[in-house]
Amino acid sequence: MTATWRSPPGETRTCPHCEAKILSSAPICPACHRHLHFDAVRTDRPVAPTLCPLHVEGTIQHPGTGEPWEYAIVVQIHDDQGETISRHVMGAGALPPVASRTFTVRVEVFAPQKSAV
Ligand SMILES: [Zn+2]
Repeated sequence: MTATWRSPPGETRTCPHCEAKILSSAPICPACHRHLHFDAVRTDRPVAPTLCPLHVEGTIQHPGTGEPWEYAIVVQIHDDQGETISRHVMGAGALPPVASRTFTVRVEVFAPQKSAV
């Protein structure tokens, strides 16, 4: 990458609207989709992801008999040595008989517009 960010790459902050942990460079919160910077049009960071190298979606459906099921969504990030950088439970809940839930996990990459992708 040849371009520089206004904030250090990877720096995070809390969204003032929904309190999600987001990139400091984000002009729009990826969680609540609200605008965060008045100068979003001047930044070299694209609003939309440059790449989406991972997009996984799956649905589970309770068969309708028996007790409710419980579920938890656990997301882990590992570095190139295999060490865990972070591990978070993104959500948890119950699945009553016959109900279903669809889960989507996306990795969104934002590269400066000047960088070679
Ligand atoms: Zn937000």
